[in-house]
Amino acid sequence: MTTQASNPSALGRRSFLRGAAFAAAAVPILTEAHLAQAAQTGAAPSGLALHGQSPNAPPPGMVLINANENPLGPSKAACEAIARVAPLGGRYDQYGETEMLASTFAAQNGLKMENVAVYAGSSEPLHYSVLAFTSPTRSFVTADPSYEAGMYAAKTSQARIVKVPLTADCAHDVKAMVAADPQAGVIYICNPNNPTGTLTTKQDIVWALENKPAGAIVLVDEAYIHLTDAQDTLDLVAAGKDLIVLRTFSKIYGMAGIRCGFAVGRPDLLAKLTPFGQNAMPITGSAAARASLEEPGLVPLRRKIIGDTRRDTLAWLKANNYKVIGDPQTNCFMIDTGRDGKSVIAAMKARNVLIGRTWPIWPNAVRVSVGTPEEMASFKTAFKAVMDAKPVALEASRQHAELDYFATL
Ligand code: PLP
Repeated sequence: MTTQASNPSALGRRSFLRGAAFAAAAVPILTEAHLAQAAQTGAAPSGLALHGQSPNAPPPGMVLINANENPLGPSKAACEAIARVAPLGGRYDQYGETEMLASTFAAQNGLKMENVAVYAGSSEPLHYSVLAFTSPTRSFVTADPSYEAGMYAAKTSQARIVKVPLTADCAHDVKAMVAADPQAGVIYICNPNNPTGTLTTKQDIVWALENKPAGAIVLVDEAYIHLTDAQDTLDLVAAGKDLIVLRTFSKIYGMAGIRCGFAVGRPDLLAKLTPFGQNAMPITGSAAARASLEEPGLVPLRRKIIGDTRRDTLAWLKANNYKVIGDPQTNCFMIDTGRDGKSVIAAMKARNVLIGRTWPIWPNAVRVSVGTPEEMASFKTAFKAVMDAKPVALEASRQHAELDYFATL
């Protein structure tokens, strides 16, 4: 008689079945665009059907301040770089565009090339970092509310998800996050935080690194860091600490549709991400990203343009006695509307303004992205009209399924 353990074909079948179960549970890599669109349609977020051919494509003229995009788009230098390399696109990366990008970023930040892994956006390395460092026995610890994509990845690795409310001033409560689970695999710190736009001090992040459970990493998501005056954490990578820093070109650099991002970390940590996927970069994304990094004055100029529009909008909201949550520093903020946030989102949509979603912990609060001054003027007019009108209850059929999904995580 052969036991299962000594029977290679039974073992093969068993691991195949385990693999199949894993594949069935695998969740696609979701970007802000998927999450933003799901909030508008009421469908659970999926990796498919974004704008473009989708029947859910927004009508022309709709104000799009729902996905934390940058209305300034890619810089002129980035567009020129794309035009320069596009004719070379018949071949793979013949001239090493991606390597030149990594080397430029490393040199600008006192890092080595081996500290920088280039991806088509930061959604991929966010997903892979969670898959690599969480498991059924190593949890995913996140602030609440915070960017949800990591929770989706944790679903795939069947990790426990531990949500820790933000502090009263909307920073990450690092002491509570570190204490939350001695078996944590990833402590996710989104700085500044999406959706609140609020900051966590570098001192607190250093504290988390020094006090976290052994074997855990701190995953610092700096998607919006350039829009603030806050110190980044790249020096902690250079110092060899247990963190991975995520960067994207989708925000201040306005390249969400062109796609480029980084995972920055110790080579041994980055190596754990590669089994999950490491595709070649499109040379257009790499070339545009390098041109953006090399354009003098681009970051401070854009920080000022977007910051001025944010400050103007926040001042208007406060002057009109609307309640902004915390002290937002980036291209998004939350308003506590004092009524069901989903109904406000629907009423704004009816007035041609798409605003962002709600989070289960604060069902009355809506996230708004900072658009152009003209877009924010349309926002103000629509928001005042919506808030002046009597609240309208949403029909049950319009309730947004994905938010209920998050409530169950
Ligand atoms: N992290 C945060 C906090 C985000 O808000 C986003 C997108 O909005 C991302 C990561 C991923 O961005 P991308 O994949 O476009 O680089």
